[in-house]
Amino acid sequence: MTATLIDGKAIAQEIESSVRERIEQLRTEGRRAPSLAVIRIGDHAPSGIYVENKRKACQRVGIDATIHALPEDTTDVALTSLIRDLNQDNGVDGILLQLPLPASLQETAFIETINPSKDVDGSHPMNLGRLAARTPGLRPCTSRGIIHLLKWIGETFYGRHAVVVGASNLVGRPMSLELLLAGATVTICHRFTHDLESHVRRADILVVAVGRPRLIPGDWIRPGATVIDVGINREKDHLVGDVDFERARERAQFITPVPGGVGPMTVAMLLDNTLEAALARSGRVSAY
Ligand code: NAP
Repeated sequence: MTATLIDGKAIAQEIESSVRERIEQLRTEGRRAPSLAVIRIGDHAPSGIYVENKRKACQRVGIDATIHALPEDTTDVALTSLIRDLNQDNGVDGILLQLPLPASLQETAFIETINPSKDVDGSHPMNLGRLAARTPGLRPCTSRGIIHLLKWIGETFYGRHAVVVGASNLVGRPMSLELLLAGATVTICHRFTHDLESHVRRADILVVAVGRPRLIPGDWIRPGATVIDVGINREKDHLVGDVDFERARERAQFITPVPGGVGPMTVAMLLDNTLEAALARSGRVSAY
């Protein structure tokens, strides 16, 4: 069997089109464009690329994006004050704090300072808690994007065993909650999991989000499984995922490429979350 590639880029473009059309509709009704404030701190090079990609994507769909680029030595007080100002600003619908922050700044404290109704990254404990309680508000972008990919290929979730490798607040944990919400039976693996291979071998749906190139050998993939590779690892001049792609695609039924699989969906979901936040703030839908 050679797996069908899940073309995240093409599916993300469909979402972008839908977001763009809905924003055009708002504009024709005389309303302002949704607006996103992105906070970037320091010189972390990959963050610079991610922020620029997000800015361009906002431009494509008509979201008004403002980048707040702060120096590496930004203080707790300065960052807290900026987030509070953005929380208060009625012209701002979404706030995105680009991670990682410099080591001197405590990520969780700042995420918790963001107003949950503007938390378009879905990282605030209120939004993670709502997902856990089966009443989702703004949902973390990567895991929401993966659910969209899985539904797109016709995944039904019921009676299926999903294995998530990686348990970070950003990807693995919300992914597990999303899969549970969708109706799958979920196993979560992390650094202290014994015999990772035996868990991976039982996965109908495998999602890997660790950040270690080829952590999962292709031979571990259950024949006919769906493989979602979230990992982004730079090797010389190209990117590879966390799964041994070439061997895995001989066993899986569906597989995401790296790049061009999950990454574009994360950005598309940020756009959709920003639109949702803007609509909710104007009372159009009841996200809160
Ligand atoms: P992270 O915060 O470093 O978390 C990695 C997770 O993997 C942790 O839960 C860690 O366990 C677990 N882990 C480490 N070694 C392991 C092992 N040997 N076996 C099983 N689990 C292990 O990373 P992240 O932010 O979740 O990102 C993971 C990867 O996804 C990175 O490559 C990142 O670049 C990529 N990513 C891609 C997108 C996208 O849009 N495509 C979005 C976000 C992230 P502990 O919890 O025990 O430490």
